[in-house]
Amino acid sequence: MGQRAILHAPTDVGGQAWAISKGMKELGQNSRTMVLERNYFNYGADIDLELKDLGNFQRIVRRWHFFLRALRRCDVFYFYFAQSLLPYSLDLPLLRLFGKKVIFIFQGCDIRLQKMSYPTKGKKTIVVDHAATCPVCAKIPDWKKLWRLRYLELFAHQTYCVNPDLLFVAKAAKFLPYAHILPKATVTKKPGKVLTLLHAPTERSVKGTSFIIAAVSQLQRQGHLIKLKLIEGKPHETVLHEISRADLIIDQVKIGWYGSLAVEALSLGKPVMCFLEPILIKKSGLKDCPIINVTAETLAEQIEQVASDPSQLAKLGVRSAAFARRYHDHQAVARLLLREL
Ligand SMILES: [Zn+2]
Repeated sequence: MGQRAILHAPTDVGGQAWAISKGMKELGQNSRTMVLERNYFNYGADIDLELKDLGNFQRIVRRWHFFLRALRRCDVFYFYFAQSLLPYSLDLPLLRLFGKKVIFIFQGCDIRLQKMSYPTKGKKTIVVDHAATCPVCAKIPDWKKLWRLRYLELFAHQTYCVNPDLLFVAKAAKFLPYAHILPKATVTKKPGKVLTLLHAPTERSVKGTSFIIAAVSQLQRQGHLIKLKLIEGKPHETVLHEISRADLIIDQVKIGWYGSLAVEALSLGKPVMCFLEPILIKKSGLKDCPIINVTAETLAEQIEQVASDPSQLAKLGVRSAAFARRYHDHQAVARLLLREL
């Protein structure tokens, strides 16, 4: 494929723009990232417009200035979190008029509705109350998000979602696995006498932490040699270090899909337990997912199964690392996108 000037903008939620752009650079493309302002997590960016402390007028001038430069220099535009270069995405018709390629990568609360439903055959429609767990989305009416989505879809050549539940909202989108700059080596550790489980919730009620604590206590009372390490509010480095010392990671038992912590654990060769909604696995098209699928009800039984035969953990760890590399490695995701360009 010939080299094209590619821009990833204008925000970097979850480090996606940076990771995918890095992958594209490594594959020989002329790829750059731009952010309107650095966010709290401070992911890398090639260009930072530093809009944070500017007044409204200056913000608009700077955005237009950048847009006109990008229009001259770039061929392909990847936009994240349902935003583009100009306010109200006024740049989109102009980009199309000048023959540019426009692609959107939706990530979560940018298009997630207050009540999400997954229609299924043979099973009742599953409704997830997103507004109850997300104070930001509770304030944004669905019609606003849908209106914006339809507008973006009108100008996009292609749309992607990094969470499969979003495919029920953005119906024309394809699933794109979450991109991660993965560690090069896996960590192998023989399970000791006591099986160490790790759970690192950002929000206890969302992850179903109380069910996890209850299941482990029940097993401990029955005499199983297991311990649960709970990590909260610790820096990312500490969490990674703790993951590498654990035997099994429990991501969550409530929300139906896995997050970046699970991907990092898998890439380190650590087996992961998580509740995966079967329709979402099907919708994602991921094959050979090594994650042990649990629910709040089956959790204790499934931990007991692992505890009774810890030797299966090593094999599962190898499969986990291979899965993370196949689907989530930043170069793998970049290659997939370039192939479909
Ligand atoms: Zn939300």
